[in-house]
Order: sequence, then C-alpha cells, then structure tokens
Amino acid sequence: MATASQSEVQFRFVVAGGGIAGVTCAQQLASQFPSLDIVLLTAAPMVKTVSNFRQVSKTLEDFEVEEQPSSVLEEKYPNLKVIQSAVTVLHAKQHTLLTENGQVFHYEKLCVCTGARPKLIIQDNPHVLGIRDTDSAQEFQKRLSSAKRIVVVGNGGIALELVYEVEGCEVIWAVKDKAIGNAFIDAGAAQFIIPSLEAEKPKKALPCKRTRYTTDKDTAPNTGISGIVDCRSSPWTLLMCLMSSLPSQVSHRVHVEYEFLLLLKIAVFPFSTGVWPIYAQLSNGKTYGCDFIVSATGVVPNTEPFLHGNNFDLAEDHGLKVDEHMQTSEPDVYAAGDVCTAGWEPSAFWQQMRLWTQARQMGWYAARSMAADILGEAIELDFCFELFSHITKFFNYKVVLLGKFNAQGLGQDHELLVRCTKGLEYVKVVLRGGRMMGAILIGETDLEETFENLILNQMDLSPYGQELLNPNIDIEDYFD
Ligand code: FAD
Repeated sequence: MATASQSEVQFRFVVAGGGIAGVTCAQQLASQFPSLDIVLLTAAPMVKTVSNFRQVSKTLEDFEVEEQPSSVLEEKYPNLKVIQSAVTVLHAKQHTLLTENGQVFHYEKLCVCTGARPKLIIQDNPHVLGIRDTDSAQEFQKRLSSAKRIVVVGNGGIALELVYEVEGCEVIWAVKDKAIGNAFIDAGAAQFIIPSLEAEKPKKALPCKRTRYTTDKDTAPNTGISGIVDCRSSPWTLLMCLMSSLPSQVSHRVHVEYEFLLLLKIAVFPFSTGVWPIYAQLSNGKTYGCDFIVSATGVVPNTEPFLHGNNFDLAEDHGLKVDEHMQTSEPDVYAAGDVCTAGWEPSAFWQQMRLWTQARQMGWYAARSMAADILGEAIELDFCFELFSHITKFFNYKVVLLGKFNAQGLGQDHELLVRCTKGLEYVKVVLRGGRMMGAILIGETDLEETFENLILNQMDLSPYGQELLNPNIDIEDYFD
C-alpha cells in the first residue's frame, strides 16, 4: 500500500460489500496474494462468512452463513483490511472510490459486491416492512410479538419461508399467481407442500435449512427481547425462538389469496382508535386489516453509489451487467452477487437466481478473474455455472432444484414426468427431446446426484419413457 496523499490510499485490489460475495472475493484475493494488502469496504459493522462448506455433488453445495465481526476475517487473513465505511461515490475513470468517512481509495481492480435491497410495495410507510438483514429481521420479530394478523405480499423464497415459520399470528398471504412459490416450484409441487401449512409443525430445535444463516451469539446486537439473543441462527430461527416465548401457541393460521393484482390501498389509522393500523385492499375486492404488511416482492440491486458519472451497462433488473469474467462495462470494475446480472450467454442448464450459493460462486470467480487479469493468465468460465443447482428447505421438506427445473425458457418444447407420494416425495423431471433439462426433488429422494449427471451428460432417456421414475427401479444403479 502506498499513500498518495493525506486522505488518499492506494490498493491493487479493493472489494466493496461485506456480504457473502464480497467476503468470498476478498478472502480469495488475500490468500492468492499474501504479500499484497487487500481492502474490503463495507457499510455494516458485521460481515457474512461461509462456514461448514460441503460439496454435496459436482455442483450442489451446502454451507452455513454466519454474521461475524470483521476482526475475525482480519485475524485469519493478516493482509486483509476491513474498513467499515460505505462507498458513496465511484470515479471509474480515475479508479477512485470515496467513502462515507471522507477517505479516497485508489484501486487497480475493484469488485462491487454491495448486494440488493427489498423492493417495497410502498416506500416509507412504517407499517410496511421489508426483510433484508439482521436489523430488519429483528424489527420484524419485535413487531410480530404483539401482532394478531399480518399480511405477507410476495411469492418467492422469503415469503414461502416466512408464512411457514410464523406462529401465533394470523397470516394473510397475497400471491399474484395461481400457485404458491412460483419462483422456485411449480403448481404440482405447491399442491404437494401446501398441506404442511395446515398441519401441526413438527417440534424441532432449529429450522434446519440446508443453507443456514447464523449470527454469532456473542456479537449479535441485543434486541431486548428475551429468548432471542441466545439463538445462533437465522432471522427465521430467531423468530421461532421469539414465538416459543409467547404464552399461547397457535400453530399455522395461514390464509392464501391467489391471483390478486397489486392494487393495494393502504389506509393508516392511529393505534388508539382500536382498529387495525393498516388495511390492505386486494384487487379481488377483499380488504384485510392487519398490524403490518411484509413486502417480500423481490429485490433491487444496490448500485446507486456507483452509477453517477460512470458508464455502466445496466440489465433490465437494474443489476450491473457482467461478462463471463464478472467484469462490468467499466474497465477494471468487476461485480459479483446480488448487485450484478449475468450478461454472458448462459449454459443450457443455468440461470441466475439471487441466492447465497451464487453469491459465493460469483465472489470466488470474480477474484480468480481479477487475479488472472493482473497475472496475464487466461481463465474460462467456472464449471459451477454449467448447471443451476440449489438445496433448501420449504415447509420442512428438503428441496433440490436442478437446471431448468421449471422449464424456464423452454416454451412448449418440453415434457414433464412426475412422481408423487403424498406427504413423502415429489419428483418432477423436465425433458426436451428425451434429454433431461431440469428437475425438482422434494423429500428424501436421494436422486440428486444421478439426475445431476443425467442433465450434464445429456443422455438420451427416451428408451426408458415413464420407467425413468418407476419407484421400483433403483435408478442410481441403472445409470451408474
Ligand atoms: P449481501 O449479502 O446483501 O451483502 C451486501 C453487502 O454490501 C453488505 O455487507 C452491505 O452492508 C454492503 N453494502 C451495501 N451498500 C454498500 C456501500 N455503498 N458501500 C459498502 N458496502 C455496502 N439465499 C439463499 O441461498 N438461501 C436462503 O435461505 C436465503 N434466505 C434469505 C432470506 C432473506 C430474508 C433475504 C433478504 C435473502 C435471502 N437469501 C437467501 C438471498 C441471499 O441473502 C442473497 O442472495 C445473498 O445474501 C447475496 O449476497 P451478496 O454478498 O451479493 O449481498
């Protein structure tokens, strides 16, 4: 590091954002260049790290996400300096960044990993919450402790998880589609899992999502709500701890309103009148009073500090468009994670979804690309971008998504094979021209590795027809 002026410092590599993408990128750079100082600039006091990483199969990954103080990173990587100060301005031509505390950083290569924020259906309304991070999750838990009814708007992973985990409070779930969870699963899978919403939830210590989110109990801010600070776990786990401290437990009380149009008329009343603080009017004419509305309708990439005066190509979803080396349209500026949008021609079985797994993979690959550029080496798109794969839990079922699991982009040119045993498993395979393009596996199917191989090797499966999903055939042995 060389000091250019009193307040301007120079680094070869600067990473902005202390989430999974930024931390993975900075760690990779720090270990590849032990004699260089790497700087990680971040807005929040805590950083997110990956722990207990397990490569389940060629492309499936399982790991936990922990929020930790930045000192943990600095101890592990002595050449990594974490500075808590948000980036406010980027001058891409000059290769400089300005941070909140007035410091100027000159970089040779920059990676922007500033994530995304919830897309709220209504801005600046105290009764409309978005959930993004520990702070907003804790605000949610606080509000939930005295709530009798909430309205959840949205149909993605966050809404799915939330309606399942909330207990002791009535939930009105407003989805604009014909079925729940359409970002991840199809209508058949939705039918398979929805009885779990009405059933009594199994008692368990933790909601064991395959990709878990934990906060360090010694460093998590004290919310002042008993039962929370002792939990090492996700926003949802913290929520469960809170719910377990409530005197009367009513398990699920979820009412789903399908195919509503986004026509929310919000009326706010003072608490003292005894009526609901907010009302949500749906396009089907129904109006629900509630304590608050949770807006889980997607995210918007955090690009603002980087755009002014620069010449970034932006994607339709407002992400920074990146090429197959995670490079943006501005020279020497890379981007990874939720803030970016993949602009390369993707493999036939991969699509971008804003998830922890992809944030980690992109952060790691961006670091490799930045390094390769400095070292003058060639680098090819990593294998992890060959096949979309994700393991999670919905409604306490293990869910594995592979490739074009919802026939994304295939139009009518596909056929589906489905096997379903109520309460046990749901297996759906997407085929095109007899070759497997994707699959949804719900329950303990043990088929993920075989199906991953069948997608990757594009074997012609037409001779097997329906037998492919015959439960009496041990398909693993068949194709090994
Ligand atoms: P983030 O994790 O959002 O990190 C962005 C970082 O940038 C933060 O440290 C922030 O402080 C920093 N930052 C922001 N602006 C600036 C600035 N101007 N200057 C410097 N730093 C800045 N995905 C899953 O795979 N599984 C799940 O179960 C799951 N559950 C989720 C639950 C919730 C409630 C939410 C909101 C998301 C969930 N996701 C889940 C999605 C997942 O969290 C994101 O895809 C992932 O965190 C993206 O990582 P990232 O590093 O790109 O961004």
